[in-house]
Amino acid sequence: MTSASDQPLSPTLGAGEIRELAQRLELRPSKSLGQNFVIDGNTCRKIVRLANVQSSDVVLEIGPGLGSLTLAILAEAKTLVAIEIDRRLAKQLPDTVLQHLPKKVSDLQVINDDALNITDLTPVQAPTILVANLPYNVSVPVLLHLLEYFPSITRGIVMVQAEVAERLAAKPGSKVYGVPSVKLRWWADASVASSISREVFWPVPRVDSLLLSFARRSHPAANDEALRKRTFELIDTAFAQRRKMLRSALATFLGSSEQASARLMELGIDPTARAENLTLDDFIVIARGIYS
Ligand code: SAM
Repeated sequence: MTSASDQPLSPTLGAGEIRELAQRLELRPSKSLGQNFVIDGNTCRKIVRLANVQSSDVVLEIGPGLGSLTLAILAEAKTLVAIEIDRRLAKQLPDTVLQHLPKKVSDLQVINDDALNITDLTPVQAPTILVANLPYNVSVPVLLHLLEYFPSITRGIVMVQAEVAERLAAKPGSKVYGVPSVKLRWWADASVASSISREVFWPVPRVDSLLLSFARRSHPAANDEALRKRTFELIDTAFAQRRKMLRSALATFLGSSEQASARLMELGIDPTARAENLTLDDFIVIARGIYS
């Protein structure tokens, strides 16, 4: 019998291999593309373990970079679709997998594109899980975009800037509760899963990182796309003036502050509340009420 500790560790790339690959590709990590590469195998394996990647999973990875996390995921998953904006990195990835995990190279598909352009992956199998060290400057739009366009993704784990993870997981009333928190809630329950040391990256980033795990949730309005769009528009409007009472924040939307007050009261919402105190369900009630 073999115990878990007897299992060989899944391959990843260490600091030396990452630097050597970068040198060979003449790659100077780009700040604007958020290119901070993980150089620590244990961190990659920890992400895969926390994501609970199964041998039946079709994993979507955004920004595979030089491939350290890709290798750790691919060792556990059925297949992996990796979307990488940088042409040199996308081109290199199959060779890296061929070198370190040759048996799995046919289970990898690399797409050289901006994740925000991807709205359909057919004829590739629908992804079941998202696992990614996201490019930090676009992490929120990428996460919301993927949850919108890929309903087959039921769960996932993403590494993002610490403040962003806290904001995404925040609950009403918290100082950091805002547009990303409420919008993410439409699609998923999310929580902070773990912190990640700056030292596991090359180059070392100026910000802290956290892992955010999420699970898609169902709710009565989940499939009403028209209502979602209206609710998201309302959320943007209400948070654009987050310190104002709702009756003022929604005054232009609803005619005047008095009209907004009357309408909100009819809907059972306190007109003196602020956006930061409202749950997604409150926003849905208002969106349903004011557009009907
Ligand atoms: N997964 C690798 C790792 O953990 O070492 C690299 C992560 S690095 C934080 C982000 C990666 O996303 C980079 O490889 C970058 O080129 C890529 N990237 C940046 N913007 C992107 C976008 N809009 N769509 C797809 N990939 C993007």
